[in-house]
Amino acid sequence: MTAPPPIERLALIGLGLLGSSIAHAARRGALAGHIAGHARSASTRNKAVEIGFIDSVHDSAAACVADCDVIILCAPVGAYGAIAREIAPCLKPGAIVTDVGSVKGAVIRDVGPCLPKEVHLVPGHPVAGTENSGPESGFAELFEGRHCILTPAPGTDPDAIRVIHDMWAAMGSDVEMMDADHHDRVLAITSHLPHLIAYTIVGTASDLEEHLRREQVKNGDVVRTSEVIKYSAGGFRDFTRIAASDPVMWRDVFLNNKEAVLELLGRFTEDLTALQRAIRWGQGDVLEAWFERTRAIRRGIVETGQAGGFSATEPKKGSSEDSEA
Ligand code: NAP
Repeated sequence: MTAPPPIERLALIGLGLLGSSIAHAARRGALAGHIAGHARSASTRNKAVEIGFIDSVHDSAAACVADCDVIILCAPVGAYGAIAREIAPCLKPGAIVTDVGSVKGAVIRDVGPCLPKEVHLVPGHPVAGTENSGPESGFAELFEGRHCILTPAPGTDPDAIRVIHDMWAAMGSDVEMMDADHHDRVLAITSHLPHLIAYTIVGTASDLEEHLRREQVKNGDVVRTSEVIKYSAGGFRDFTRIAASDPVMWRDVFLNNKEAVLELLGRFTEDLTALQRAIRWGQGDVLEAWFERTRAIRRGIVETGQAGGFSATEPKKGSSEDSEA
């Protein structure tokens, strides 16, 4: 006799990259007896049904969570408060609400107060993603070998934490516990600030693009080529990929991790000024020492297996981690 799935009914609110990847991974691992799904638009709901990664689709979040044991919020973080208010009256006692949001303090702030006492909140953040979004972008392997950080408040029911821990572990993640504030500070420097820098550089380059066009005569015609696009070599190309990440999701990340991002941005600006000064004064030793230090950091990341991509030669469906939130 086969063992029953660990989760009887699983609800996914949001069926984009994260929601669909969880559904694929849960299906593959037989982690849920039934997967119910809801997304804001009919087109996404229809696409999810067409691809076939959910068992039932619902027009409202409230209908989706009815009778579910585990509910995972997979929408942009800015929508969590309204979703929590909508689903709260329909949650069954003992249900566990968790999420995949890239910031955690705001989730506790927005979702926690809306939930009935007998419902457990175990906030989570799978540190895995790509620059792609939407229901077609998900794949079951997204979480394999990636960290998943849980940030339950002190006093949260240990059994509820165990259910969420085991779910992520079964999807291939390395699960860790962390205080929500600490999470938000760590992710501000490792993920949020790098995205802000990518958005800035690509925006600046696009502003400059008009000035950097070159006129050439080809076959008697004057052709204006964009030098920025033509010569977008390694560094800039990587930035453009990161800067292609979902605008709504990233808007919400910055608005909901404001303090940590602004604090680190201040420190970053100081360091940038120091490098600017070293360049101006020809201090090659300062630059070289700085670059040696950063090269060692990259080596450390490669050694811990968190360098991104499935393999150096075989990237699949977007390069995992590099553009995750
Ligand atoms: P996504 O591909 O854009 O999908 C977002 C989904 O949420 C869509 O199905 C969207 O529906 C739905 N949605 C938006 N507002 C909603 C609402 N008010 N009610 C119900 N559904 C709503 O985004 P994603 O990349 O999966 O990101 C989702 C969450 O994962 C975010 O909180 C993000 O911080 C977190 N996360 C992302 C990554 C990453 O790299 N992408 C990594 C880790 C964590 P429609 O399609 O109908 O608009």
